[in-house]
Order: sequence, then C-alpha cells, then structure tokens
Amino acid sequence: MLQYPNLEQALKYHFGYDRFRPGQRQIIEDALQNRDLMVVMPTGGGKSLCFQLPALLKKGLTVVVSPLIALMQDQVEALRNNNISATFLNSSLNAYKVRSREEAILSGKVKLLYVAPERLLSERFLPFLDLVNHQIGISTFAIDEAHCVSEWGHDFRPEYRQLRSLRQRYPNIPAVALTATATDRVRSDIIQQLGLKQPSIHIASFNRQNLYYEIRSKSKYAYAELLELIRETQGSVIIYCLTRKKVDELTFKLQNDKISAIPYHAGLTDDERTKNQTRFIRDDVQVIVATIAFGMGINKPDVRLVVHFDLPRNIESYYQESGRAGRDGEPSRCTLFFNYGDIKTIEWSINQKTDQQEQLIAKQQLRQMIDYAEGTDCRRTIQLGYFGERFAGNCGNCDNCRYPKPMQDWTIEAMKFLSCVARCKERFGMLHIIDVLRGGKSQKILQNEHDKLSTYGIGKDRTVDEWRMLGRSLLHQGLLEQTADGYSVLKLNALSWEVMRRQRTVNLAVSAVQKVTWEETSEKAVEVELLMQRLRSLRKQLADEQSVPPYVVFQDSTLKLMAQVQPTTLSEFAKLSGVGSHKLAQYGDKFLAEIRAYRQEQGVIDVVVNEKPAFGFRLPSTTELLTLQLHQRGLTVAKIAEQRNIRSSTVVGHLVDLIENNQPVDLNQLVPLEKQKKIWQVLEVLGDISLTPIREQLGENYTYDEIRLVRGRWRREKRK
Ligand code: ADP
Ligand code: ZN
Repeated sequence: MLQYPNLEQALKYHFGYDRFRPGQRQIIEDALQNRDLMVVMPTGGGKSLCFQLPALLKKGLTVVVSPLIALMQDQVEALRNNNISATFLNSSLNAYKVRSREEAILSGKVKLLYVAPERLLSERFLPFLDLVNHQIGISTFAIDEAHCVSEWGHDFRPEYRQLRSLRQRYPNIPAVALTATATDRVRSDIIQQLGLKQPSIHIASFNRQNLYYEIRSKSKYAYAELLELIRETQGSVIIYCLTRKKVDELTFKLQNDKISAIPYHAGLTDDERTKNQTRFIRDDVQVIVATIAFGMGINKPDVRLVVHFDLPRNIESYYQESGRAGRDGEPSRCTLFFNYGDIKTIEWSINQKTDQQEQLIAKQQLRQMIDYAEGTDCRRTIQLGYFGERFAGNCGNCDNCRYPKPMQDWTIEAMKFLSCVARCKERFGMLHIIDVLRGGKSQKILQNEHDKLSTYGIGKDRTVDEWRMLGRSLLHQGLLEQTADGYSVLKLNALSWEVMRRQRTVNLAVSAVQKVTWEETSEKAVEVELLMQRLRSLRKQLADEQSVPPYVVFQDSTLKLMAQVQPTTLSEFAKLSGVGSHKLAQYGDKFLAEIRAYRQEQGVIDVVVNEKPAFGFRLPSTTELLTLQLHQRGLTVAKIAEQRNIRSSTVVGHLVDLIENNQPVDLNQLVPLEKQKKIWQVLEVLGDISLTPIREQLGENYTYDEIRLVRGRWRREKRK
C-alpha cells in the first residue's frame, strides 16, 4: 500500500482535489480512529468522500448501505474512474456476476462494496459477510441516506430499521451514518435506531453559497422568461411541475421551441423513466421536466438551473429540491415562479384532507412558503432560519439582496381598498372588491348594486395585478383578514381602521422588471467559455466511449480551471483540482492537445485586435471577432453556429454585442428593414426594458433574436 505523509496528499492522489471541504478532514480523522459517526451535510457538501477516503486508508472492506440502485451505480462508476476498486451487489445482476464479484471481494481486491439493505440482511448474504469479516476484515459500515431509517423523515424505508441487528452481529465494526436531512427529530432518530455508540456528530452549515435564489412572478410572460433562462444556461436544467399533465404540456411547448427537453413522471413506464433519466445524466438532453418524484435517486453534480414552475408544498421540500442544483459547488440558479393562483390550487387540495391535524400543518407550511415567496428579506436568511441556522444579513446571492425592491407608499390605495371592503359590508372576496374598485360591470356587481357605491370605479388607475398585490400584502401584514371557510371573505380588523383613519401608513415592496442575465460577461470570461465548449465536447466523447456520464470524466469545475489556466504540460495539468493520478494518466494528453489547438487558433486571431475603440465602446473579444469574420463572409447565423460548433443564440449574442460596440455588422442581412422600423418604434415607446414585453407588443411574427439585434443598434445610437 502507498504511504502518504498527510491526508491532503492522499486526497490529491486518489481524488485529485487540493483541499478538503469544510468538515471533511475532521470527519475523516474520526473515521480513522474507528469512531461511530453521524454526518449531516447539505446536498453537495461532499459526504461520500467522508467514508470513501478512509475506506482506502483502512485495512479491509468498507460496506456501504445505499437505498437506490441508480445511486450505487453512479458512485461506483465515479470511483472506478479514479481507479478505486469498488463494486455493488444488487438485484440487477445475474447469479454469475454476483459470484464473480463475491470472489473478487474475498480475494481482498475490493475496497468498497455498495449494497442495498434488504440484501445485506438476507439469510444468504449474512454468512458471506461473516466470511469476508473473517478472511479480510470489514473496516466500516457506511449508511448513506440514513434518514431512511426514520418515520419522521420524508423517505422512510422499513428495511433500514433492521440495520440495527447488523450492529449487534458485528459490535466492533464502526458505523458511519450520513444524511442531508436538516431536522433535529430525524437526526436523533437516526442515532437511536442505528444504535450508534457515542457517535462523533458533525453538522455542517446548510448554507449553499453557490446557489442563487430568486422568485419571479408567474405572469403571462413566465413561459417566455423560462425560455430565456434555459437558453442562457450552460448546462443541465431541471424543471419541476405539480402534475403529470403540466409536465407533459410544458415539455411539449419547450420541444416546439427547439429546447431539448424530456418528461419524467409516474405516468411513464419504468423503462421510459430509466431511459429519460440516463439521457439527462449523460447530457444527451439539456432539460428534464418532472414532477417532484424526480431527483431522489440522482446524483448529477452539474445541474445549473432548477426551476419550480409551481409552488412547492413547504420550505423544506423547496430547499431539498432546489438543492439538486450545483452539487459540485459551481454557481447555479434556483428560480421559483409564483402567483396567487397557485395558492388557491394548494389551498383547495389541503381542504380535501380529512385529518384536521394534517390540514393545520399543511396550512401553516403553505403560509411559510408564501411568506418566503412574497418576502423582501434575504431568501437565504429565511431558508436557513427555517432550519434553525442563523445567517446574518445580506448574502449577495439572492434576488432580494442583489436587487432590493424599492418600497413605495401605497397608503392612499390601501385606504381605497379597505373602505371598499367596508362598503361591501365585509361579505365578499378579493376579486369582487377589485372588480368594484375598477368599475366592473359583472352580474354580481349589478345584483348587489355595488355600482352605486362611492368606491365604485375609484381604482381604474391600477391594474388587477397591482390591486391583488396590495390585497395580498395587506393580508400578509395583518392589516386585513380573510375567512378560512373556503370562501376567503375579506374582513376588517382594528389595524384596517387605523389605516382608514390615516393613523398608519402602508408600504409595499414593488418589484421592478428584472434583468435576466446575472453576470456581466467580460472578454476573458467569453474566451474561457469558448474553450470550455471545446473541452466539453471532448469530455462528452470520452464519456460516451466508456458509456459513463460526462462528469465522471471531469467535473465542470475542473474543465473551467483548464480553460482558465490553459496548462501546456502534463505537470501543469496535474496541478489542477480534480486531476488525480489516474485521470492524469488516462486523459491528460487528450485535453492538453485540445487546449493547444485552441491556443494556436487564438494566436492567429490576436493580431486582428489592434484598433483603439471609440469612447464608450469596448473592443470585441476573440470569439466575437470569429463570429464577425464569418458574418462578413455572408454566412447566416445558423451557418456560423454550425461552423463554430456553438449555439445560434450565442452567435446572436455576439452580433448584438458587436453592434452595440460599433462594429461593422450588417443589420439588413439579419433583420428585414420593415421589421427593423417597427421594432425601433416600439423601443422608442417602451424604452430599454426586457425583451418579453417588447415581443408582446410586436406579436408572434417577431423573434427574440430580431428584437435583440435591433435593440443593439438602438442602444448604440442612444449611447453616441
Ligand atoms: P453529497 O453526497 O454530500 O451530496 P457528494 O459526495 O456527491 O455530495 O459530493 C458532491 C460533489 O463534490 C461531488 O462531485 C464530489 O466529487 C465533490 N467533492 C467532494 N469533496 C470535494 C473536495 N474536497 N474538493 C472538491 N470537490 C469535492
Ligand atoms: Zn440574500
């Protein structure tokens, strides 16, 4: 066996990482002391390493208990790609394979064995385990997803309960329990049920710094915004919907818009589900649209965007589901689309529950979810607070911290609203009140003679959505009440009267139109991105050859480092985080060759950039210049994309930036003159806002690309 002077060296040698994540080192040291351990870390915290590295450093076999076949296969593949001898036994194998794997284990060749609990405890398997323990020794039982042992958790599995007997059979073999479950109750249940002996308990922070949290209003533009988000995302996307029907509809729409998307829900056959999951994990498709059934069993570390297109049931589920983004620690986005209609749907389903207690809990959880969605405080602070973790102040990586919503004084509007409730004798719901305020002519208004009220039509200056936002906020701030009998009748309280008597002001956080892009792309960043794309396709090719997911070859973070550092020798390459001894030998030359090819190409281009730009404009980047050259040769956007092996949306992005920065792009070649004029007119009226409302004005005949291009020219003129 190899000797390492320290743990860092062992980490680098086997896994290629330079340093431990928070908590890992301490846990591994405890594991090497043969202590029982309880490890609580958020998704993506790096739990697996906490038993994998000790498994390599200790004598004997580490037995890993894992609930799902897919999870086992993933981990074993990833380990093998680091030349670590790991294997699994489960029901997917035939008798012959099982036997040969058992032989390999008994010969001492295997360091990690993954196995499902029901097999582990079977009559046939226990004698084998005895034999292993006798011949080569079992170093540790690692129990992954340990919350499955608890009825309080969200994923109880009775087989896990029997693991306790395993502890009794092998009292001297230490056990490590690992989970991402954040609640106290489940944690103590795990310790008790598994009979951990004076375990060393490690609870990591649940703050996932790399995740950007945002809420968007689920308006009529939501789908268009979703499209923009997906098109801007370099990497995999999960979209969650509430029902199968919605999953199917959304998948269909996305496919129509040329997004490579597939569905996942309980209505598909097992085969279809497995197939779709594999295509997603292998990066054969970019987007998976799913009910929340999807995700438990997948370990894909490079999901860059998780969208909730419907409101989640509670904050804990939201934290877990959105947490499937960015497990590898790279910046990723979590977007929740929210509107009041969703609340109604969920309220309705809660009211179907027959158990009073359950209903109450569900209602409270919904309330918290709404508070979260409507809140103007740091999203991270609210989420972590829910798990009892204090997080002070501004996280800088959520919508509320990045784009604080301006507070506006809405006292006058609130007075109008509340007095309308009073005039209607506190007998109606929100929609009717708004209808009265806006001077509607519904049957209900005429029947009740509400068109004769002094408040009739005094709110025409505000839209229905604005009134609704105010109404919700009044409820939310406790300035108004609503009955819980299913009719949601609005009722006044003491505070309402204070507002109407002008003893209290009402402030509202008003959301501004949000910019869709979250990062200014610098010239360097674009170049890195360009090289990354080449390295990505090389990675995909190598992964397909071995039929493993691309992240098993190298993670995104390692590709990014390659693109940034651009190593030229194997020894430079070896220094990158994520490059261990085995991967260096296996892939080093191939990636170096790709980087070299890129640099050569770039060297030719460097000469072109020699003019100083005019005031206020920046020089084009290398990749933009490449696009410009092809454009000047008369190639269409599609042809340029094809030739450069990049997406056409990226090409359009280049052209837009080139136009904005006063470079010779021929707009007439890209957008018909008639359309240019029309788009220009709309821009003059609406100003520089996001694309969706502009498109809305123009109609279906205009593409987003056309608008972006003309807007580029328009911006340039405004700047001059
Ligand atoms: P968890 O099981 O806690 O969700 P994983 O064990 O799957 O997390 O680890 C998440 C990701 O982080 C994996 O891609 C893993 O390779 C990576 N990782 C783990 N430890 C480190 C480390 N010390 N440095 C860099 N990456 C790490
Ligand atoms: Zn924040």
